[in-house]
Amino acid sequence: MTDHDADCERCEELLQSYLDRDLTVEEVVIAEGHLDGCDYCRRRYRFEEHLRRYIRISASERMPAGLLAKLAELRGPTADNF
Ligand SMILES: [Zn+2]
Repeated sequence: MTDHDADCERCEELLQSYLDRDLTVEEVVIAEGHLDGCDYCRRRYRFEEHLRRYIRISASERMPAGLLAKLAELRGPTADNF
């Protein structure tokens, strides 16, 4: 457990809301401060950000359901392998 500590867990909790721009100023400071110094969480953040962009595009362009399922699949293992 060298690269995944309590701060990372907290950051992951905040991540979804952070992407939704749904955090208090205090929480944003915590999340951004941590993302700034943590490679693991920064990668998670970028991945989630990309995923959301894909989902938004696919929602408007009606991406095939199979492709969406594939993206969702990618999400799980990636999180565990870091
Ligand atoms: Zn972290």
